Amino acid sequence: MSIVTSEPVPRPGILDIAAYVPGKEHAPGAARVFKLSSNETPLGASPKAIEAFQQAASHLELYPDGQAMALREAIASVYGLNVANIICGNGSDELLGLLCHVYLAPGDEAIITQHGFLVYKIQIMGAGAQPVEVKENDCQVDVDAILAAVTDRTKMVFIANPGNPTGTYVPVSEIRRLHAGLPKNVILVLDAAYAEYVRRNDYEAGLELVSANSNVVMCRTFSKVYGLAALRVGWMYGPAAILDALNRVRGPFNMNAPAIAAGAAAVRDRAFVEKAVEHNTLWLDKLTHAFETIGLKVTPSVTNFVLIHFPDVDGKRAPDADAFLTSRGYILRAVKGYGLPNALRMTVGSEEANRGVIETLGEFMGRSA
Ligand SMILES: *Cc1c(COP(=O)(O)O)cnc(C)c1O
Repeated sequence: MSIVTSEPVPRPGILDIAAYVPGKEHAPGAARVFKLSSNETPLGASPKAIEAFQQAASHLELYPDGQAMALREAIASVYGLNVANIICGNGSDELLGLLCHVYLAPGDEAIITQHGFLVYKIQIMGAGAQPVEVKENDCQVDVDAILAAVTDRTKMVFIANPGNPTGTYVPVSEIRRLHAGLPKNVILVLDAAYAEYVRRNDYEAGLELVSANSNVVMCRTFSKVYGLAALRVGWMYGPAAILDALNRVRGPFNMNAPAIAAGAAAVRDRAFVEKAVEHNTLWLDKLTHAFETIGLKVTPSVTNFVLIHFPDVDGKRAPDADAFLTSRGYILRAVKGYGLPNALRMTVGSEEANRGVIETLGEFMGRSA
C-alpha cells in the first residue's frame, strides 16, 4: 500500500530517533577552558602521525586507496591479524552504522544495555529495527539479563567493553559465557573503543573470540588513545563473510588519504601509546581517590574517564556541579541521556586540568581533597 503525501516522508521510525548530542565545548565567561567531555586525549597525536598527515597534504588531488591498505596492513602487523579480516571506517561510528544497515531489517531486534553507547540505538533505529534495552547492575553489564532478552527476532547484541559512560568492563570469561548462550545467527558486537587503556588480566578486547567464531565482531577507534578524533579513523576485526557483506555497501572511498596515512603511523608508534596509557593510569587512580575523599561516589573505571555520582541533595546534584564547573572553565559530560541524571563523566585530562577539577569540586562540596 502506498500513501500519497504532500511532502517527502522519512521511513517509519526515523523521526523517533533522538539525534546524538556531542559533549559541550564552550564555557562562556571562563578565562581558560578545559574540555573534558568527549574522552579526547590530553596528549595530542603521535608526532609521527602528524608528520604523515602533513605529507598527505601534498597530494589532495588524488583519490585515496579505497582498500585503505596501508592502514589495514599496519593494524594487521601490530596486532598479528590477517589483513583480510580488517575493515576501516570513517570513525568506528561508520562501521557500527554499516553493520546495522546490512544485518537489521524492520521487525528485527537488537539488544543494547541500560547505559550503553547512544550510537547503537541510533543506528538500530536508523535501520528500522527495534532496540531492546536490558538493565545493568549498578553500571555493570549483566550477561544474564542480556541472555534473558534474546528472542527469535534478535539479530545483534551490542556491548561497549569497557563501557561508556560507565567505565566498567566485562571479564573475558563472562563475554565467552554470553557468546555461548547466543544463537549462531546473532552477531555479538564488541565495541572496544577504550581497550588500550585497560590494565586487567581478565580483560580481552575480543580478538580471540572473533578469530574462533563466525558471529562476533570487534570495533576499535583511533579517536581515543591515538588522539586522531578529528580525522575519523576506526576499524573492525571480523569474519570474512561479515566483512564481505559490509564491503558491498561501504562507500568506495570512505577513508580519506590523510586519515589512512596518519592512522598507519599512529598504530605503529607503540611508545607513544605506552606513554599515554601511563599518564592515564596514574591520573585515573589520583582522580578516583581525590573525588572519594571529598565525598563523591566514583564508579571504578578502567578507561580514560571517570563517572562521578553526586549527592541527592539540593544544590549538590549533577546539574549544579556541571554549572559550577563550567563557570570555572571545566567542561564535563552530563550523562542524563544515558540514564544517569545525577552523574557527570570526566575525561582524564592534563595534570593542570585534573588538579583544577579536583580543587573546583572540593570547593563545590565544601571539602578539600
Ligand atoms: C568514542 C567511542 C567510539 C569511537 O567512535 P569514533 O567514531 O571512532 O570516533 C566508539 N564507541 C564508544 C563506546 C566510544 O566511546
